[in-house]
Amino acid sequence: MPQPNEWGKLPHAKPRLLVVDDQPINIRLIHELFSQEFDVFMATSGQQALEKCKSLMPDLVLLDIVMPGMDGYQVCAALKADPALSDIPVIFITGNSNEEDEVKGLELGAVDFIHKPINPVITRARVNTQLKLKRQSDLLRQVALIDGLTGLANRRRYEQELLTAWLQCARDNQPISVVICDIDNFKLYNDTYGHVAGDACLREVAQCMANSVQRPYDLVARYGGEEFIAVLPRTWNEGAQQVATNFFAMLQLSALKHEKNVTGLVTVSAGVATVVPLPNSSPEKLIAIADEALYVAKKSGRNRFHCIAMDSSHVSE
Ligand code: GH3
Ligand code: MG
Ligand code: MG
Repeated sequence: MPQPNEWGKLPHAKPRLLVVDDQPINIRLIHELFSQEFDVFMATSGQQALEKCKSLMPDLVLLDIVMPGMDGYQVCAALKADPALSDIPVIFITGNSNEEDEVKGLELGAVDFIHKPINPVITRARVNTQLKLKRQSDLLRQVALIDGLTGLANRRRYEQELLTAWLQCARDNQPISVVICDIDNFKLYNDTYGHVAGDACLREVAQCMANSVQRPYDLVARYGGEEFIAVLPRTWNEGAQQVATNFFAMLQLSALKHEKNVTGLVTVSAGVATVVPLPNSSPEKLIAIADEALYVAKKSGRNRFHCIAMDSSHVSE
C-alpha cells in the first residue's frame, strides 16, 4: 500500500519543480539536488517555460533572469498576468547580487531569490519553504470550495463553475443543462430520525447524485440545505433526463428508510432545464426555469422529475 510522502501526497504525486535556465549545466545541478524528492522538469527558454507551466502546472518555478529572447522578468510577468498560472510561485535564480534586480523581481510577484553559484543547503531550504506554503494554500483553496458535510462542491465553487461552463457553451454554441433536486419531506425526516441521521441521509443522497454523472466536466454541488444541483455542459435535455433517471435509480437502490413518505423510502423531486446560451447572457434564467420545473415536480406528487427545454431567446435579456 503506497504511503503518503512528506507532502501528504501519494508517491506518484510528488511536487513538480520547473527549472528554467538557458545553461544546461545549471539545470543539471538543480536536477541532481531535487530529483529524489520531486518531479523535476526543465525549460531552456522563456517561451518554453510558459508552455511547460500551462501543460504541467508545476508547484514551483526556479527561473533564471538572464536568458536570450524572453528574459526571466518577462516570464514572471506573463505568469502573474494569467489567472490560470498566477498561483504558481516563482523563485528567481540570479548571478547578480543587485538590490535593484531583487526589488524588480519581488514587485513582479516572485517569492524569493537564489544566488549563483548555487549553494545546495540554502537552495534546498528556500525551495522546501515555498513548496510547503504552496501546498498549504492549495489545501485552503480546496477547502474553501468544498461543502464540509457532503464533500461535494459548495455553492461558491458551483457559482464559479456554472459561469465558466455557461460562457464556454455560449462561445461554442452548445447546450447546457442543470438538474436541481430537493429531498422530499426532509423536515419530517429530521423530526422523525434526528439531525445526525438527517446529515447521514444528506451524505448518501449527495453520493448518489455525484455517482449519476459521468463526464469529467460535469459538476455536482450542494446548492442549499437539502438541495443539490448538477451542472452538465454540452448536454441536451435528453442527456440531463438520463442523469436524473440514473440518480433516481441509485437513490432507490440505497433504499434509505423514511416512514413518513408514502413510499416508505427517502425520495427526491427534481427540475431539469436546458438551453443553448446566447453570447452576453447570464445563467440566472436557466436556474429560475429549473426551479420552476422542480416546483412542478413537487406539486404533481413528489418523487419525480420535470423537464423544461428552453428556447435561446428566453435567456437573451
Ligand atoms: P419538501 O418535500 O416540500 O421539499 O419538504 P421539506 O420538508 O423537504 O422542505 P423544507 O424546506 O420545509 O425543509 C427542509 C429541511 O431541511 C429543513 C431543515 O431542517 C433541513 N436541513 C437543511 N440543511 C440541513 C442539514 O445540513 N442537516 C440536516 N440534518 N437537515 C438540514
Ligand atoms: Mg428545500
Ligand atoms: Mg425538501
